[in-house]
Amino acid sequence: MVDEKRDQVTAPGPKVGVYVCHCGGNISDHVDVEKVCEDAKGIPGVVTVKNNMFMCSDPGQQLIMEDLKNGTIDRVVVASCAPSLHESTFRSAISRAGGNPYTYEHANIREQVSWVHHGEGATEKATRLVAAAVGKARELHPLEPFRVDAKRHATVIGGGVAGLRAAKDLADRGIQVVLIEKSPFLGGWTAHWDRLSPTEDDVSELIPELCRQVLDDPAVEVHTCSQVISFEGFIGNFRLGFRKEPPAEGAYAEEIERMKQSGADTGDFIPHVGVCPEPLPEASEEQTVETGVVVLATGFRPYTPRKGEYGYGEIKEVITLPDLIRIIAENRRAGGGQLLQVNGRKIRAMAMIHCVGSRQIPGIHEETEGRPLNQYCSRVCCGATLHAANLIRETHPGTRIFDFYRDIRTYGRGQEEVYEKASDNKVLFFRFEAQDPPEVSGNAGEGDFPVSVKVKDTLTFGEEIETKVDLVVLAVGMEPNDVSDLVEMMKLPVGADRFLLEVHPKLRPVELSVSGVLVAGTSQAPFDVGETCAAASAAAVKASAVLARGGFVELDPFIAEIDMGKCKGTGACVEACIVDGALRMVEMDLDGEKVLRPEVVPALCQGCGACTAVCPENAINVSGWTLKQYEKMVEMIVSEKLAA
Ligand code: SF4
Ligand code: SF4
Repeated sequence: MVDEKRDQVTAPGPKVGVYVCHCGGNISDHVDVEKVCEDAKGIPGVVTVKNNMFMCSDPGQQLIMEDLKNGTIDRVVVASCAPSLHESTFRSAISRAGGNPYTYEHANIREQVSWVHHGEGATEKATRLVAAAVGKARELHPLEPFRVDAKRHATVIGGGVAGLRAAKDLADRGIQVVLIEKSPFLGGWTAHWDRLSPTEDDVSELIPELCRQVLDDPAVEVHTCSQVISFEGFIGNFRLGFRKEPPAEGAYAEEIERMKQSGADTGDFIPHVGVCPEPLPEASEEQTVETGVVVLATGFRPYTPRKGEYGYGEIKEVITLPDLIRIIAENRRAGGGQLLQVNGRKIRAMAMIHCVGSRQIPGIHEETEGRPLNQYCSRVCCGATLHAANLIRETHPGTRIFDFYRDIRTYGRGQEEVYEKASDNKVLFFRFEAQDPPEVSGNAGEGDFPVSVKVKDTLTFGEEIETKVDLVVLAVGMEPNDVSDLVEMMKLPVGADRFLLEVHPKLRPVELSVSGVLVAGTSQAPFDVGETCAAASAAAVKASAVLARGGFVELDPFIAEIDMGKCKGTGACVEACIVDGALRMVEMDLDGEKVLRPEVVPALCQGCGACTAVCPENAINVSGWTLKQYEKMVEMIVSEKLAA
């Protein structure tokens, strides 16, 4: 719907256009958009007011672009959702119309109004926010983005599937890449698996192929046994230090032993370990890399059950899903058989328990020191568990399987079929409530089976059922790898679930709030291998877009500016600055006198305004957010002329 409402007000100075969004009804169900438009016509400086059902749509943006092109307006105010969602949409519409994108101000009348207020109060608040935005818009001046030199180089941290995929995609776009991996191996946790669900991809083919592509590419330099130890700089110009050293005593012992036993050479794939691309280093050595962007592909680790959780660590027949996956592959290599075998013992019946270490609920699950609850669903364990169950039922038809679940979440293409196949394969399902989990107990010396699992089965209205089994498998979830050192060093945002937090899940899904640092794969959230590759390719595309201009990147001009005429050199701003190195005291010549004054490093300044707030002389302003602009906003927001 387009409702044109042009008013006749002519005001000297900037000509402001106001565009109010209905957001489908998200806004207009609670805010009287017509009244906001009527009131906006009376705000000094406003020359046109329009509203649209979806301002972010092409027709909505077209309204702004037409008014700019025909000279009706030279300042734009959009009243819609949060600026984090669509501020950049409208700035780019202004650019496309030939205007200056920084002559724009945004009024949030959805999250700050219609979602939290109702009735007349909501409409009045919307009007006041629009008036404040107009007040500021009148004080805006065209600004130019500033350029910083950028190295056409990327550093990928992590050598699992995400890191390998991102490195290869970057190299394919002509970008030099350094890949840094902590362990001696490439392939990450995927290399520990066997066949992937639901595609049946064979990991022993997939991982060596991906590693070969990366290792054979002259644009990629791989460093294993290497850990990042320092990080400084800004987008386009990071300096990253890393240490390469022999694995610590006992670290990767099992994998290194497997490598020795397999007689594998460097570059060969070792099942359930990965590819070791270079000999283990014999001495510690430090190196530095200068790089334009950083891709974090630091991955996940499977949840380790607490001692005693479903008998884990106390009953030797209780194992995890990654253990089972290895056992299945070993059985196949040994030629299959009627019954699955574990350490030479035949498995007649086994239990599989879902949601171990995932979907934990405060008050039900135990929180221990240093191990917060994982309240999220790990997303992939249902599919992986049922896929393993199918493999067993098809290869070892004598092994019966009892599946204990809270919910089955086999989401995604081809996964529901895995669930249906499990039913066809006569896997027997029991459903439990979170507060009544299955009880696992050892049957030492009693009867034929070493373990029993008791559950109140909600599928039979709470009947208590006991199954006797030879093996219990815990479908453990995914946790992010501990990257607290990188988080601290690089000031990375982390979500409540401890995974790295993107700027916006839809608009900037692979960017972190540190400009030039991107996230790829399971360091961000639980993903399956296909999703991990898609996320890594997205990060690589974004990284190459940052470096696409060849030699420089453009940054928003919202940075601190110091008025040397007012500054007395107290240094309060430097103390208040939130970013190391963004503001520093330097000696300079002022009226023939040597004095200490603050200097802004534009590429590091985040325009937060902490310095502005503490300056006793009002000598610092953030471009695009000056004190004068704030004053105008306050003046307008409390204006009596706007009283309903
Ligand atoms: Fe539980 Fe399934 Fe979610 Fe894994 S994917 S946490 S097993 S519901
Ligand atoms: Fe530092 Fe923020 Fe001031 Fe920039 S705006 S100099 S980051 S305090």
